[in-house]
Amino acid sequence: ANSILSSFGTTIFETMSRLAQAHGAVNLGQGFPEGLEPADVVARAAEAVTAGPNQYPSMMGIPDLRRAVADHDRRFYGLDLDPMAEVMATSGATEALAACLFGLIEPGDEVVLIEPLYDSYLPIIRRAGGIPRLVRVEPPHWNLPRDALAAAFSPKTKLMVLNTPMNPAGKVWGHDELEFLAGLLERYDAYCVCDEVYEHLVYDGRRHVPLMTLPGMRGRCLKIGSAGKIFSLTGWKVGWVIAAPEVLAPVAKAHQYLTFTTPPNLQAAVAWGLGKDDAYYHGLAAMLAERRDRLAAGLRTVGFEVMDTGGSYFITADFRPLGFAGDDAEFCRHITERAGVTAIPVSAFYQGGDVDRFARFCFAKTESAIDEAVTRLANYF
Ligand code: PMP
Ligand code: GLN
Repeated sequence: ANSILSSFGTTIFETMSRLAQAHGAVNLGQGFPEGLEPADVVARAAEAVTAGPNQYPSMMGIPDLRRAVADHDRRFYGLDLDPMAEVMATSGATEALAACLFGLIEPGDEVVLIEPLYDSYLPIIRRAGGIPRLVRVEPPHWNLPRDALAAAFSPKTKLMVLNTPMNPAGKVWGHDELEFLAGLLERYDAYCVCDEVYEHLVYDGRRHVPLMTLPGMRGRCLKIGSAGKIFSLTGWKVGWVIAAPEVLAPVAKAHQYLTFTTPPNLQAAVAWGLGKDDAYYHGLAAMLAERRDRLAAGLRTVGFEVMDTGGSYFITADFRPLGFAGDDAEFCRHITERAGVTAIPVSAFYQGGDVDRFARFCFAKTESAIDEAVTRLANYF
């Protein structure tokens, strides 16, 4: 008989948010910002909904957004992009990822990935018929094992998925690591899907370097961005992918059967927002750095051992010093139910292994939510 049991599980973010809701917990689990939405960008969307058009836009995205993305990448990275040939709007980075993977992977192609990995990568790669080759980086330092990375490449490698700044590790890939990776991509004639949704969320003077800007990488990289992160508007699901025309073409073919388009009015508002001055972008990172420090200090007073976060809006923390006996999934469930604070178990980003004593906390929250979470944890432990 046909089975309707799906090989897709339920994402950990949905699971933990439901649990948070059921227990009235402060939700520092799922990564969504609170209190950071720019009112002017939201107002633009409201105007654009009223003014229209409200019909299908071009499947590649509205020209204003494609130009705005190209201008943004010229301003911040010196990239020279043809907006009409090299930029495609998508329904969030999630769709951009799916379109890249479905568009580029043929059954039997190998795909190199770094664990911890964002949860949408593997299910899509498998459904596309790709064969994942996993390389691990681990807390506390998240150092890249170069030998293991080199060994994961083979003549069957079609592409790699790179996430920098990295969720949940907070690791910002260094220039030397990117150079090493670039060498492997050239040697094996492979492509790289670069998930750079946290591109502006880098701290302490670090700089985000797109792999696409390295010598030889312009035609090998597909660079993904998201308004969800740049404007703290995750519910809008406006993202984009940038690539050389011949690399973007198969991705656009997949996109036409995934979503085809993205709401034109939200695209218009994001296009306007991307033109904001440098102060906006720096201000966002500065504010988030403060929130990071506030949460890190709070978690330390509770007794956690807190890992460094160079980028993204996540802190990973070792809960062993608190004396909790179970693993990370048990810990995250336990603190949701008993302390009223929700986090994500870091093991959810690995396929097995023994990273089982770290919880991920999102700090893109109001100061009062951060303080309340810390108070609840402190009272409990
Ligand atoms: N990639 C990473 C690494 C993420 O953390 C997220 C989620 N927030 C996404 C992709 C998905 O982004 P979007 O909400 O734009 O679909
Ligand atoms: N990217 C967000 C996170 O890592 C959540 C995205 C989602 O809920 N699918 O928490």
